[in-house]
Amino acid sequence: MINLQTPIEQAPGVGPSVLKKFKRLKIKTVRDLLFHFPYKYDDFSNIIAIEKLKINEICTISGKVLGIETSRSWKKNIYITEALVEDKTSAVKAVWFNQLHIQKIIKKGDLVFLSGKAVAGKNGVYLSNPSFEKFKSEPIHTGRLIPSYSKTEGLSSKWIRRILAPLLKDLHGRIPETLPQEIIQSQNLLPVEQALWQIHFPSSKEKASEAKKRFSFEEIFFIQLFVLRERNLLSKEKSASVPVNLGVIKRLADSLPFKLTDAQRKSAWRILNDTEKERPMNRLLEGDVGSGKTIVAAMACLNTAKAGYQSALMAPTEILAKQHFQEISKTLQDFRVNIGLLTGKQDQFRSKKLKNQVIEISRKKLLEKTLSGEMDILIGTHALIQDKVKFGKLALVVLDEQHRFGVAQRSKLVSSGAKKEKPLIPHLLSMTATPIPRTLALTIYGDLDLSIIDELPKGRKKILTKIINPLEREKTYDFVAEEIKKGRQAFIICPRIEKKEDGIKNTWSETKTVKEESEKLKKEIFPDLKIGTLHGKMPPKEKEKVMNDFRNKKTDILVSTSVVEVGIDVPNATVMLIEGAERFGLAQLHQFRGRVGRGEYQSYCLLFSDKPKERLLALVKSEDGFSLAEKDLRLRGPGDFAGTKQWGIPDLLMDALKDMGLVEKTRETAKEFLQKNPHLKNYLEIQKRLSEFRERIHLE
Ligand code: ADP
Ligand code: MG
Repeated sequence: MINLQTPIEQAPGVGPSVLKKFKRLKIKTVRDLLFHFPYKYDDFSNIIAIEKLKINEICTISGKVLGIETSRSWKKNIYITEALVEDKTSAVKAVWFNQLHIQKIIKKGDLVFLSGKAVAGKNGVYLSNPSFEKFKSEPIHTGRLIPSYSKTEGLSSKWIRRILAPLLKDLHGRIPETLPQEIIQSQNLLPVEQALWQIHFPSSKEKASEAKKRFSFEEIFFIQLFVLRERNLLSKEKSASVPVNLGVIKRLADSLPFKLTDAQRKSAWRILNDTEKERPMNRLLEGDVGSGKTIVAAMACLNTAKAGYQSALMAPTEILAKQHFQEISKTLQDFRVNIGLLTGKQDQFRSKKLKNQVIEISRKKLLEKTLSGEMDILIGTHALIQDKVKFGKLALVVLDEQHRFGVAQRSKLVSSGAKKEKPLIPHLLSMTATPIPRTLALTIYGDLDLSIIDELPKGRKKILTKIINPLEREKTYDFVAEEIKKGRQAFIICPRIEKKEDGIKNTWSETKTVKEESEKLKKEIFPDLKIGTLHGKMPPKEKEKVMNDFRNKKTDILVSTSVVEVGIDVPNATVMLIEGAERFGLAQLHQFRGRVGRGEYQSYCLLFSDKPKERLLALVKSEDGFSLAEKDLRLRGPGDFAGTKQWGIPDLLMDALKDMGLVEKTRETAKEFLQKNPHLKNYLEIQKRLSEFRERIHLE
């Protein structure tokens, strides 16, 4: 008898070729398939006559295929499949690009629904890349809502549903409910079996959205439950109590070449108060790019060091780790603390001892000093959480731009502590410049305490942001040259490293690549200037050299991929020029922009784009990272946001994260539920689900 754990190859209708595709989709069991949700629904219910097609709108038609053929475009090296479809009123062409499988599915004489954008081409109107559904006989019913499953695997939704339907029938009454009954009732949700039917075979739009609502609730509910539970567990742990050393903090503040902003002061104060407690701190410090988070972290580290404890600061890249090392060493140079830098592939380790003296030491020595407690602050990348790195007296972990939950990192750093009594777990400070909208922060970080630096240091000049039509390219290059003549520097960001072999998705627009673009700039545009090239695939040593050359003004222009996105600080750079700006998310563009305007000079953010979208206009209008993040969330969904991926939320349900009401409701529900069932005694399914989460998160 088939059950949820049955391997998918034993399901009726799953032959070797389908199995291969399922494997690619990581569908291994019957359960995996049932919970493999469509990513959208195509609505074939509003069918219009072909003669009534409206240009530039998504239209749905139905008709008979008069012919279909595929040709290859010599110019762009793409395959074009064209079908001519006729209804009683007229005929229209449907055109697909690089979708060779369509030729195999749609044949001359077939009856089809097509739904896609009507575009006015050179040779008349056509439907561009329409989604389709074949049907047998003429009568057309309303309410045809057809699920669309993942795009790439070449399995038609029909196939998936053909395999699904008998499975669901067979499993009738045997699919265990995953949500507690009381919650299904109190929240008025569809029971799991019904919801599964409706998500795959919706009988109407309303039913589909009810099913979606149920599963959305479920996803968020479990995340909340997990987060709350972790927090409960954490509250039973102990951290070192680090006394606030007001004298030292004051001295540090006075030694800075600038005045701390009120927001910096407040955040630092909260953090110092937290670390003074035995209860482990769990704090997220959000602050826009350039708001000065590093100094706040440095204060906490210094205070920790002066109390005889250690801090670990983890940065996402080697470049940033190094930059932190340099900046924090400089900031704390009069305070006699030992600071170490440990990165991954690089074999360069330094320890700072005594004033202004940076010495190279072997990794062995560095690890010894870390274990003995002599190392006050250890800065590094992920390399910090190797087994070999053991701290003697770790009390504080700072994560910079990790875009992660932090639980995993902390637990690894804890277990590496010296084993004497019950190990103390370190306080955790997570810093991010990605302004995470409240709904998301609530979901992903749960009850994490939040500090926000919502104020930039005084005297910063507004960065002038402009969308530039590629026709004005030359003028723009002239402008860049002028800035460089004045002694400034420029970033040029390209979406890609090099041309992709498959070339399928991006054949339509000329995506600029770092390699080609820097060649072109060197040879044709700025032959007299020094140009550096940076991308993620370069060896770390080389990357570092390129960055250092730029920072030390040995190069004028840095052509780079998005690797410069996070945190790089070059105050002399005044131009941020972004190629193919429409390809980046708002939050990301805002991050790029934050790379300039860090010094005293007027700075510019120039967005090359031939199709200025709403997104880009929003960037021109607003400098506020938080409102941009909210907007990005609304326009693009949370797919790209901090930490959402690791939860494995199906695409279809991602929208739910935008729904503040839903997020708050699930949170309340999860809280109540946990109060009533602190040990989840009678909820094996739920326990299982939560330990899956833990595994996934700790694997990261
Ligand atoms: P981020 O929050 O993006 O990490 P940083 O900590 O790198 O920002 O700070 C950006 C720059 O601003 C650094 O050069 C830092 O020295 C400087 N800075 C920090 N705080 C202030 C302040 N209160 N006034 C002036 N400059 C500051
Ligand atoms: Mg930073």
